[in-house]
Amino acid sequence: MDLIKLFSDILPAVRIISKDDLLEKYSTDESLIHFSQPLIALLPKSTEEISKILKTAYDNDVTIVPRGLGTGLSGGAIPVKPSVIVSTELMNNIIEIDRENMMVVTEPGVITGELQRAVESAGLFYPPDPASLDSCSIGGNVAESSGGPSAVKYGTTRDYVRGIEFVTPNGTVMNFGGKVRKDATGYNIKDLLIGSEGTLGIITKLTLSLIPLPKFKYDMLIAFDSIDAAVKGVIEILKSSIKPSTIEFMEKRAIEAAKEFLGNEMPVQRGEAHLLIRLDGDNVDEIEERMLSASELVKRLTLHEILVAENAAQQEKLWKGRRSLHDAMMEMSVKREREDVVVPISRLPELIMEVHKLEEKFNVPIISFGHAGDGNVHINIIKTKGDTGEFDRYINEINTGILETAVKLGGKLSGEHGIGLFKKEFMHLVFTKEEMRLQREIKRVFDPKNLFNPEKMFPNE
Ligand SMILES: Cc1cc2nc3c(=O)[nH]c(=O)nc-3n(C[C@H](O)[C@H](O)[C@H](O)COP(=O)(O)OP(=O)(O)OC[C@H]3O[C@@H](n4cnc5c(N)ncnc54)[C@H](O)[C@@H]3O)c2cc1C
Repeated sequence: MDLIKLFSDILPAVRIISKDDLLEKYSTDESLIHFSQPLIALLPKSTEEISKILKTAYDNDVTIVPRGLGTGLSGGAIPVKPSVIVSTELMNNIIEIDRENMMVVTEPGVITGELQRAVESAGLFYPPDPASLDSCSIGGNVAESSGGPSAVKYGTTRDYVRGIEFVTPNGTVMNFGGKVRKDATGYNIKDLLIGSEGTLGIITKLTLSLIPLPKFKYDMLIAFDSIDAAVKGVIEILKSSIKPSTIEFMEKRAIEAAKEFLGNEMPVQRGEAHLLIRLDGDNVDEIEERMLSASELVKRLTLHEILVAENAAQQEKLWKGRRSLHDAMMEMSVKREREDVVVPISRLPELIMEVHKLEEKFNVPIISFGHAGDGNVHINIIKTKGDTGEFDRYINEINTGILETAVKLGGKLSGEHGIGLFKKEFMHLVFTKEEMRLQREIKRVFDPKNLFNPEKMFPNE
């Protein structure tokens, strides 16, 4: 089938990508795994164009894979079968910042960090802050139900989505929710679409709620002599009235990798593990009081001095370090796999302990960091330059061990990166056959021909 011809009535030639070298970027995401090059990539600029593309594709049995900005880590935007990519990268306009209702209406291709800065300049705050915020799209965040460090206090993307316009696989435009803060009208399709990983349709417009921008923020970096003490620190702080907006956990080896990667910009203190804690609010005295309480609390668990970043430059240094961990891990690895499991916070110490047992058993470095404040850690399994075959020999056992442990502890396979291609074979650990069947039937209602982002989320039947 001549795909260029098929879509040329809908899009101008410059927005139909067909050259091999340009298509390469659409063949993978940040997981960097390749299956097959897409047949073509389409760059629509409006809901109407997406609707026509999907209707044409559906009528002609063409497989579609939706894509935002390709920073996903679970392979959701990777084409597996011969497919046409529909990228929302040119749908990058913020439509309206509504100060009265404290909402923003936006196209899906807007970069999350840009959306945050735009609403901040209007004195408002959109808290979800994935570490990739300067390179991922807001539509991708909704499709993945993304989180970030500030989820401890402010919740994840899901908590801010009020309305979704989306196009079904057969090209029908639908709207659910709107500029309302509560809604008990009909089934909650909006929430079904959040986290649906591009398997049910393409999100074309979003209404997101905002909150007032906190006036002040302080960051503290606390070193602990053991991972166990750091994790106990997390639990103590969460049980107190300190109300941190973030509690990020970093193993010493992660912080050292960031230091190496950034060329000494990360202040490394002594200790085996660190917590990066942010406190924010509108009253400096009250924040300082909370900081003092946090220091008193953790003093029982650590003898190390606590580093407080009070100005923007110091804060940027700490957060640059935290946000560089993904790249820093990449830099130190010949190959790397990662898990993004989430467990009840009280079970975090057991999770970390079990992960270390796997590390010792298989002699493969496993380094953890992440959103300890909500029980979600990123576990990096590293193939180093000195690896003598252990990584390739044991990687499946290690991945399985981590996922099984998380589920055994009452946790889930993914806290925020999604299932995509890489965790689908483990869904049986979490769901019964009937629970899987229900979800597959939902997919069939939206996509009876299974043409829309196939092979994702669930193993083949
Ligand atoms: C350095 C780094 C740090 C990261 N940190 C975090 C973090 O802290 N928290 C976190 O949650 N994630 C994190 N991620 C993962 C990633 O950035 C998020 O999953 C992000 O939401 C993906 O957005 P994207 O625009 O790049 O989507 P893509 O990668 O393009 O797509 C992701 C999935 O969403 C679907 N999709 C995209 N747009 C749409 C749409 N408009 N309609 C329907 N489906 C769509 C795709 O089909 C695919 O299944 C990180 C990634 C990197 C590389």
